[in-house]
Amino acid sequence: MTTAVPAFWSPRIAALEPYVPGEQPRIANLVKLNTNENPYPPSPLAVDAIQQAAADGLERYPDPTSLALREAVARRHGLTVDQVFAGNGSDEVLAHAFFAFFQQAEPLLMPDVSYSFYKVYAQIYGIACELQPVDAGLRVDIEAIAVRARNGCAGIVIANPNAPTGIGLPLSQIERLLAACPDRLVLVDEAYVDFGGESALPLVGKYPNLLVVQTLSKSRSLAGLRVGFACGQQHLIDALVRVKDSFNSYPLDRLATAGAVAALEDEAWFNTTRDKIVDTREGLHLQLEDLGFEVLPSQTNFVFARHPQRDAAELAALLRERAVLVRHFKQPRIAQYLRISIGTREQCSALVQALQAILDAQ
Ligand code: PMP
Repeated sequence: MTTAVPAFWSPRIAALEPYVPGEQPRIANLVKLNTNENPYPPSPLAVDAIQQAAADGLERYPDPTSLALREAVARRHGLTVDQVFAGNGSDEVLAHAFFAFFQQAEPLLMPDVSYSFYKVYAQIYGIACELQPVDAGLRVDIEAIAVRARNGCAGIVIANPNAPTGIGLPLSQIERLLAACPDRLVLVDEAYVDFGGESALPLVGKYPNLLVVQTLSKSRSLAGLRVGFACGQQHLIDALVRVKDSFNSYPLDRLATAGAVAALEDEAWFNTTRDKIVDTREGLHLQLEDLGFEVLPSQTNFVFARHPQRDAAELAALLRERAVLVRHFKQPRIAQYLRISIGTREQCSALVQALQAILDAQ
């Protein structure tokens, strides 16, 4: 729907879609499997640390360099603190990276099924994009992107594992991209990597054009705290810091810093919740197949599935009537799919029961 735009708006704002808050309804007791949150609470140590930080006082500004978090990330991944940048969720980190690296004469390359916000950031910053079609199995065509990159591009952005398909790429394929555009940035968004993907973080020292972005929203159950980070060689981090400083923004507040550091250090909690989610995912995959769905192989905390005989938008609407939320995308290439976040075992059982009832009623 196009509405009239006030004359005093900047022209580019008119092209931006307002966020539809329907994915975050204010209704209790929903089985909420639509935005890839972690169904389990964060580490109790993180909650304690947040409470302690509040008790220590919030009247002073936080550290503008987020040093404590960057040290925790560097320790965990064998990097130096100069190779880590922190932000308010990985969305903010991605936006800064688009501003810092992709405003070039040539277009930015990305797969045509990928995280929807890449196009939004490109639009905000006036970056032209060239989309490379995924193959029949919705797999990213690395070879096509690499060939295209050799003719010049602003860089490449890729989610690994991809969203919303859930399919992961081996590191060897990421290395093909890195080799194909040595003078431009390859941005690898690893929001879901902890659920079974292969991280490119060990390649940071080897490739000056690699920036890896991760988040604490998914595998660390901290979507509500807004913490993300980027890792790359120092010259890349310096560019991000320059952008951040120019917005005069503080990366992390005191509560977020305390909670994030404690969460990163609680390896046992991380492993337990991750294993539960992976286990539930594998079970749900089979149950959905029993219901007649085709389910893509997932290395994330969600599955992407289609029912050959049923309209996906209608299924999503019928599930919503039964208080079960899943995600449907209108984009033609994936409009027959549902993206279902992995909830607790009970939530996934509720989803399966609701789907069974809907399919039986046919
Ligand atoms: N990248 C991808 C691929 C995502 O799916 C998301 C979450 N929807 C994000 C980045 C942003 O996550 P956050 O801002 O919560 O870190």
